[in-house]
Amino acid sequence: MKLAFVGLGRMGSAMARNLLRAGHEVTVCNRTREKSEALSGDGARIAESPAEASRGCEAVLTMLADDSAVEEVVFGRDGVASTLAGTHFSCSTISTAMARRLAAEHASRSQGFASACVFGRPDAAEAKKLIVVAAGRPELVEHFRPVFDAVGRQTFVAGAEPWQANAVKLCGNFMIAAMLEAFAEALATLRKAGVDPHLFLDTVSALFASPVYANYGRIMADEQFTPAGFALTLGLKDVRLVLETAQECAAPMPLASLVRDHLLSAVANGQADLDWSSLARVAARNAGL
Ligand code: NAP
Repeated sequence: MKLAFVGLGRMGSAMARNLLRAGHEVTVCNRTREKSEALSGDGARIAESPAEASRGCEAVLTMLADDSAVEEVVFGRDGVASTLAGTHFSCSTISTAMARRLAAEHASRSQGFASACVFGRPDAAEAKKLIVVAAGRPELVEHFRPVFDAVGRQTFVAGAEPWQANAVKLCGNFMIAAMLEAFAEALATLRKAGVDPHLFLDTVSALFASPVYANYGRIMADEQFTPAGFALTLGLKDVRLVLETAQECAAPMPLASLVRDHLLSAVANGQADLDWSSLARVAARNAGL
């Protein structure tokens, strides 16, 4: 397929590379041009603007930091919406409100739109092991299934409204954040109890048998918070967004409120650019460690 990919950060670069490996024709575009150039060796064509990348493609995938980056890239000067004749798949973790705005604006321009959120860190993206959660018109999602198959190991369809995939993604990240908080509190207590964190990690892995527990548990037990696979500021954004969705749905999420405050405390203590598993340091500080 003739595709465009805009947003070549930690996740986007790996996803675009896998689309090229699967034989798709991919035009890439990124605010910082060097990241586009890094993909030209893999066969990507480089566009100078999101508008140029989107012109004439069947689908454009965007993988951007947050709502304001999406706003700029899609609706800004030389943005995706100015030239797109195909479908926009938004892969970024953004607010459900922004996903609804994208759906309405693209519809008003007779452009296709669907959400295709992903679970998995950059190493999973490189290894084509992402879990894709898509939502949108069923025939649109089915037609582009080969695109999802090229970047992930499994695709779930959350519903016919694009924002439903964003709700699933935000709730999934909330579950991970809650797990990080639980690990952080347990590890602080066990360190004070003189127990080896790695012994605890082995025990927990035997109990839950989840790669999410195993991977994050190891990072926290090793206190290896750089380089950040997922920056703490992005994690804070996601917990803030799930609270916004909870408010829209009138569904209280008291645990999310607590984790949001602990992530804020981490930012206040200079941890914004560390991995979000450095939430462990908040519980450690609270325990006088
Ligand atoms: P990242 O490495 O920080 O990349 C962010 C991307 O957004 C870069 O391409 C950046 O361009 C671009 N960008 C930011 N602000 C922009 C603006 N105002 N205008 C144009 N482009 C802008 O982040 P990431 O880890 O790849 O995450 C990307 C998205 O995926 C986020 O929504 C994140 O929540 C989500 N996500 C991340 C993970 C993970 O584990 N990392 C997993 C699943 C989902 P520059 O290169 O020019 O800065």
